[in-house]
Amino acid sequence: LEIYTGLKSKVLAASVAVSVEPIIKATGCNGFCEKGPIVKIMPDDISYYKVKPADVDEIFEKSIMADEVIDRLLYVDVATGKKVQSQNDNDFYKKQMKLALRNIGEIDPADIDDYIERLGYQALNKVLFAMTPAEVISEVVESGLRGRGGAGFPTGRKWKQCAGYDSFPKYVVCNGDEGDPGAFMDRSIMEGDPNSIIEGMLIAGYAIQSEMGYIYIRDEYSLAIKNLDIAITKAKERGFLGQNILGSGFNFDIQIVRGGGAFVCGESTALMASIEGNVGEPRAKYVRSVEKGLWGQPTILNNVETWANIPLIINNGSEWFRGIGTKGSTGTKVFSLVGKVKNTGLVEVPMGIPLRELIFGIGGGVIGNKKFKAVQSGGPSGGCIPESLLDLKVDFDTLAEAGSMMGSGGMIIMDERTCMVDVARYYVNFLAEESCGKCVPCREGLKRMLEILNDICNGEGQLGDIETLEEICSMTSEAALCGLGKSAPNPVVSTLKYFRDEYIAHIVDKK
Ligand code: SF4
Repeated sequence: LEIYTGLKSKVLAASVAVSVEPIIKATGCNGFCEKGPIVKIMPDDISYYKVKPADVDEIFEKSIMADEVIDRLLYVDVATGKKVQSQNDNDFYKKQMKLALRNIGEIDPADIDDYIERLGYQALNKVLFAMTPAEVISEVVESGLRGRGGAGFPTGRKWKQCAGYDSFPKYVVCNGDEGDPGAFMDRSIMEGDPNSIIEGMLIAGYAIQSEMGYIYIRDEYSLAIKNLDIAITKAKERGFLGQNILGSGFNFDIQIVRGGGAFVCGESTALMASIEGNVGEPRAKYVRSVEKGLWGQPTILNNVETWANIPLIINNGSEWFRGIGTKGSTGTKVFSLVGKVKNTGLVEVPMGIPLRELIFGIGGGVIGNKKFKAVQSGGPSGGCIPESLLDLKVDFDTLAEAGSMMGSGGMIIMDERTCMVDVARYYVNFLAEESCGKCVPCREGLKRMLEILNDICNGEGQLGDIETLEEICSMTSEAALCGLGKSAPNPVVSTLKYFRDEYIAHIVDKK
């Protein structure tokens, strides 16, 4: 904030002295967390990294002399060791394909005109005046878009099923309850480009004939709540939201619901229970939410990143979207690269990119030139993938075959010093704390798994512990009520599959 206000006062003071009026904008995070705060000078295309308030004067002076740059604030390319001035020449950015993140770092999220200038609300206009609801659904089905929240269920199919029920009112829900440790994809979109979510939900509302949407956000995301609130207010002022939208006769409103920070409320049925004001516990899905969801009415729920893709699919067509990614996983995916990786941050890449390219090409490899050991993908109930699988393609099906999952897109990189039994223990501990306790297999299964993992890590493991762990894992994933419990054994199963020798070493050597 100090950097922004410092530059703003400089720019305002100078606007009388220069012929072109300078503009300063505070944008959302552009993804390169490792190098923030970042100041980008346009149209000169100079990006300064790790800027401090004390740099403000110098940045301002040099930015009005177009040819001059502040050398020490330029990015040093990890591969070549050279200083890079433009983001377009920086491997971290140039190997990405930004669709869901298209506006982040480019627009002021509080300024709806910025969004409109970058084709914002054009897709809404198109569906309202040039497409029938069935055509909208067909376009989303044909795009092959799969939900970005974790399970990867085909979005268009969900919409089609919901549209098929003749029970009103219907609801549209956005899941912004991003609870995975190390994940901040949805947060970035909500903070940096809130109108793309609103537009996506509006299009779904029109497609399934719903007039009400809810955005469920965890309460810790205060800036996301603030920016979405501003965006909703401004969208209403401009006629994009509310009654008789753009004179089309279509009505749709959106309300923000603040969650209390329970991880289980990211599960769809628990999330809906929480919106209704009930305890956020999952229910059995004998009847799916598309038929009986929020308040027992037909409901579609998608996560933030999925919603941000919808306007693009409508504007550019399903064929264009299908041309990106792989046959079974179309489009791009946003990942948060964290842990022992050089270029920590948020990246968006076409589905099907090899893990190696993601971690070494974009992420710059492991910190301190240590040896890569594993990447944990898919959140706490994802799995750990070893070095031997670094050429694995990152898409929904390939990750699942390897014993992990796409999840919402968290990628935690681990180096040679990491104990994989301890990693499994960390995630099981997290899940045991976050389990709602409603069903026995998850509640007791996780507790028992944690006891055994604690024993093994403390040098008190017994012969037979591994087999017991495997038995509990199998029982939990088969018998647990919801996705949290069903996928909870993944960290143990995947570390046992790829790093079994570490479990054995702990038990045999008692250390
Ligand atoms: Fe709750 Fe776990 Fe059962 Fe899900 S599986 S309902 S989180 S106890």
